[in-house]
Amino acid sequence: MRFADKLRNYSIAPAKPLSLMDEEQVKLDALVIGGGPAGLSAACAMAGAGMEVGVLERGEFCGAKNVSGLLYTTVLSEILPDYLESAPLERPVTRRSLAFLDREAYWSVSFGSEAWCEKPYNHTHVVYRAQFDRWFAGQTEELGATLLEGMVVENLLYEGEGATKRPVGVQIRDDEPLYADVIVLADGANCMVTDRAINELNLSRGAQEQTWAVGVKQIISLPREKLEDRFNLEPNEGCAIDYIGVPFEGLVGGGFVYTGRESVVVGFAAKAETFKHNRVSPAQVMDAFIQHPAVRRYVQGGNLEEYSAHMIPESGYRAIPEMVGNHVMIAGDAAGLVNMSMYHEGSNHAMASGRAAGETAAVAREAGDFSKEALQPYVQKLRASFVMRDLSKYKDVPEVMDSVPELFSLYPSKVCSLLIDFFEVSLRSKAEVQKQAIQKFLSGVPKLKGIRDIWKVRKLI
Ligand SMILES: Cc1cc2nc3c(=O)[nH]c(=O)nc-3n(C[C@H](O)[C@H](O)[C@H](O)COP(=O)(O)OP(=O)(O)OC[C@H]3O[C@@H](n4cnc5c(N)ncnc54)[C@H](O)[C@@H]3O)c2cc1C
Repeated sequence: MRFADKLRNYSIAPAKPLSLMDEEQVKLDALVIGGGPAGLSAACAMAGAGMEVGVLERGEFCGAKNVSGLLYTTVLSEILPDYLESAPLERPVTRRSLAFLDREAYWSVSFGSEAWCEKPYNHTHVVYRAQFDRWFAGQTEELGATLLEGMVVENLLYEGEGATKRPVGVQIRDDEPLYADVIVLADGANCMVTDRAINELNLSRGAQEQTWAVGVKQIISLPREKLEDRFNLEPNEGCAIDYIGVPFEGLVGGGFVYTGRESVVVGFAAKAETFKHNRVSPAQVMDAFIQHPAVRRYVQGGNLEEYSAHMIPESGYRAIPEMVGNHVMIAGDAAGLVNMSMYHEGSNHAMASGRAAGETAAVAREAGDFSKEALQPYVQKLRASFVMRDLSKYKDVPEVMDSVPELFSLYPSKVCSLLIDFFEVSLRSKAEVQKQAIQKFLSGVPKLKGIRDIWKVRKLI
């Protein structure tokens, strides 16, 4: 079906009649490229302010192409205050653990709180993005935005030259172009449309080049009682375990296990180039991780329901490009707004930035001015929010992770073996056992380097 017909036949009416400039040219107030958390939040803000908004999503439905594990819901709770009543949330995270893996041994610390079992559940939920994004898209439609799924945006269309150059619409694969006063680029990681727009509009790139992590995830179904038994959970509880150690040897990254209602999410994320250096494939790493005795016990006997992979921008603060041009704003992963510290926060940042972009567009529309200057409040809003403050606090994380590769396998392995050796039951005296355990722990890493590494690693916290 051609694009204009699709809009006319769209089953859910947009907030206002779409302006058909002529048979072939359709113009809206705003277009959002990408129906992920960033794009949908932008669309909610603009539709809520009475703007005519179209969300272009290349997936068959929003969420069809998205991957992630935990959703932090602080921003969502402001955009859609009743989300707890209807959002497809798997389980709240009421217990968190950090586990260090050696070849066969493991060591973990867990913490949780009764308060996390009560609303709003510390704003942390396990979600399946295919379901969550679809639900979020439905809410966005109810606010009056028009969803255009299964539409691949190939490029922006431009008018003007030099400082006055601006996008006026989008070129859609195998369809007619669509026009708008303002465009929010929220095409996620590997954002080819954003990348071209940065070049076309001569926006500055970040001080550092963006680098990427590969995230891989499996969803394994298990009967509910078995899952709750294995993880020692009540029906209203869930847990999130982060892993570093031997399965990720040589890589810069780590793994995770999260509990769904009747399924377990097992995955990892690691710097893309470290796979090449170590001559391992993501599938091999996933196999090694899932076969580790500490992980295998959780998933054995389950059925593999989903296997997915996605890129994650991992360079943080120093790689953020200029996020505003004439008539255009960049939000979410497309701008690289991911906190890769131990908090792994991407979707909440995506929602915060999308909402800020949407609100800025609504004010610009009132003023009838979508110039680069008029859209600067978007950047100011982000700078004043937790998004930029956190990204700035963790700006050294990529460098620390690169410069202390031992953090991801050697050190976890040493901590495990220290504990195993310490608790070895033998006919030797405790003093002898402990002395040998400490000597083994301290061997292989020069003291000065160890101290320097501990000092650097504090920046991840
Ligand atoms: C394995 C893994 C685990 C993760 N775990 C967490 C976690 O625990 N917590 C957390 O907060 N974050 C996590 N993240 C990061 C999180 O998923 C992202 O930060 C978040 O999805 C970013 O939202 P976004 O809307 O910017 O981009 P996306 O969610 O990627 O959405 C972009 C959308 O744009 C669409 N699109 C792209 N190009 C086009 C085009 N040309 N035309 C039309 N549509 C297009 C895509 O199909 C997609 O739907 C994880 C990521 C991965 C890969």
